[in-house]
Amino acid sequence: MKEKLSLLISLQECDSQLVKLSLKKIKLPEKICKMEEDFRLYKENVEQNKRKYDELKAQRAECESTVKKLSEGMIKTKERLLEVKNNKEYQAMLKEIETSEKTRGDIESRIIALMEEMDKLAVLVKKDEETLKQAESNHEKEKKIIEDDLSAVDADTLTWTEKKAVLQKCIPADLLAQYERVKKRNNGVGVIPVWKAVCNGCHMNIPPQLYIELQRSNDLLSCPNCNRIMYFQNQEESA
Ligand SMILES: [Zn+2]
Repeated sequence: MKEKLSLLISLQECDSQLVKLSLKKIKLPEKICKMEEDFRLYKENVEQNKRKYDELKAQRAECESTVKKLSEGMIKTKERLLEVKNNKEYQAMLKEIETSEKTRGDIESRIIALMEEMDKLAVLVKKDEETLKQAESNHEKEKKIIEDDLSAVDADTLTWTEKKAVLQKCIPADLLAQYERVKKRNNGVGVIPVWKAVCNGCHMNIPPQLYIELQRSNDLLSCPNCNRIMYFQNQEESA
């Protein structure tokens, strides 16, 4: 009888491992997704200065292009000045040149301010890039560990399934049916250790007489509360 019990304990180990593995198969890809999303948000946050820098760079390019257009416009206006016939038109064109010059001056001041701000940001961007590089390397390492874990799941599942099939053949059909029935009703656990008169499954006390019997008898005994097949295990020794 003790031999049957030890077969059942091994079978329980297989079943428990297979449950763990099937959970891993669901949870690990979810964990990877979550890590990717967290890293994406982190990266977006770290890259704030870079985005600001690029924005300012675009503004600067736009300002420079405006300055160029204004300068070209002024050259043309000055050329036309030489051909002007009447005074009123001449005055209007001088006014136009004056306005353009004022605008160009303002934009040039803006360009200088932008460049100063960009210089300050460039220092931060460089620091951020280093921070991000380090974080990315850590992220990849952590992800690799989980991916390796995940890729081992299929092989491990196969190993435990094969082991289970061998055990199932060695256990009498009626006992196997009893185990499956109890297991189904008890969250996948059909065989349970008992120590200090407490069932490790339902955590209820085993009556003293039954506890003594469990340690002495060769019969398969069930927990009166949860019906799981019990075995005595000295948890101080096994720990
Ligand atoms: Zn119990």
